[in-house]
Amino acid sequence: MGRLTQATILIACFAGAAAQEREPRYVDPGKPGQPPSDAIALFDGKDLAAWTRKDGSPAGCEVSGGAMICKTGAGDIFSREKFRDAQIHVEFATPAMPDQKGQLRGNSGIYLQGRYEVQVLDSYNNPTYAMGVVGALYGIAAPMVNASRPPEQWQTFDIVFRAPRCSGEQMTHPGTVTALLNGVLVQDHVSLRHRGKGCPEAGEPGPLMLQDHSGFPNAPFTVMKFRNIWLRKLE
Ligand code: MG
Repeated sequence: MGRLTQATILIACFAGAAAQEREPRYVDPGKPGQPPSDAIALFDGKDLAAWTRKDGSPAGCEVSGGAMICKTGAGDIFSREKFRDAQIHVEFATPAMPDQKGQLRGNSGIYLQGRYEVQVLDSYNNPTYAMGVVGALYGIAAPMVNASRPPEQWQTFDIVFRAPRCSGEQMTHPGTVTALLNGVLVQDHVSLRHRGKGCPEAGEPGPLMLQDHSGFPNAPFTVMKFRNIWLRKLE
C-alpha cells in the first residue's frame, strides 16, 4: 500500500469517526407530564382536532377536564397523523366495572398504524387469557408482567414502534414493538412477524387508533378516559 493511499484511508477514518461523534440534536424533554419539544401532540387536553372516525367524520368522544372521554358507541377513533417508526405516549384510565370480568372489563386498545393492538384492559385483579392482558400485543405476545394500576387511576403507555418494511410485495423487516406500562417493561423488542398485513400495505404509514370495543359480543357500556397523547417520529 502506498503512503498516499494510507494517508487517504486515515483521513477517511477520522472523518467517519468525527461524523459519528457529532453532537446529538437537542430535545427539550419538557416539564414532567409534558411532551418533549419535538413531539407531535395528538391530544393535549383541549380538543379532538387531531382525530376522526374511520369515515373521516368528527371523533365521537368528548373532552372534559383535560381528558378525552370515549363512551361505548363513540366508535374507533383515528389520528389524522400517520406514521411509521415512532415513540408513542398515551395515558389512560379504565372505569370501575365490578359487575364485569375478563375482556368485558374496561376493554380498549391502542392500535399502532391502525393494525397492531397494544391491549388496554382493566387487568387489576381481573384474570383473562395471557395475550389479552393489558400491555399484550393482542394475539401476538403476552406482556412480560402485569403492571396494572387499579381502575379509575391514570396509567401510562410508552411505546417504541419500528414499522414493517416492504420492498414491493416482499417484507424486508417485520417490525418490532417495545412497550412500557406505568414505566415497567412489558414488551421487549417483540417482532410482528406472526401477525400483520402483507406487503406492500404493511409498509405504508398508518394512524394511531383508539378502540371502541362495543362491536364485540356482550360488550357492556364502557367509559374510557385518555389524556396527554403524543408521538415522536423516529425516521
Ligand atoms: Mg382491546
